[in-house]
Amino acid sequence: MRAYYKKKNALKKKMVKNAKNKIKEYKKRIEKAKKERKEFKSKYQKYLKSKEWSDIRNDLFHVRGRACERCGSTNRLQVHHITYKNVFKEEPEDLEILCDSCHKKEHGK
Ligand SMILES: [Zn+2]
Ligand SMILES: [Zn+2]
Repeated sequence: MRAYYKKKNALKKKMVKNAKNKIKEYKKRIEKAKKERKEFKSKYQKYLKSKEWSDIRNDLFHVRGRACERCGSTNRLQVHHITYKNVFKEEPEDLEILCDSCHKKEHGK
């Protein structure tokens, strides 16, 4: 009988250890994702000030005209990312010219 309890105890210990390891791994993953998000954010902020982005914007305004693509307003135009799949080397179809109010609406503000 003692051997049975010993075995059971060992199994329990192992399970606790496994669970603890899983939590540790999970926390590590969250930390990593946080770090990546932060790095992306700072890279993206820098990119928005770069010549590449300014060229893309100017091309877009040149081709599509300086007006909101949804309402035609010319108030505080911004270039909105429809998708970030090509971020840092956007295709024209990834982008949309929006006025301030349409852009805010798009982002639910
Ligand atoms: Zn608009
Ligand atoms: Zn946007």
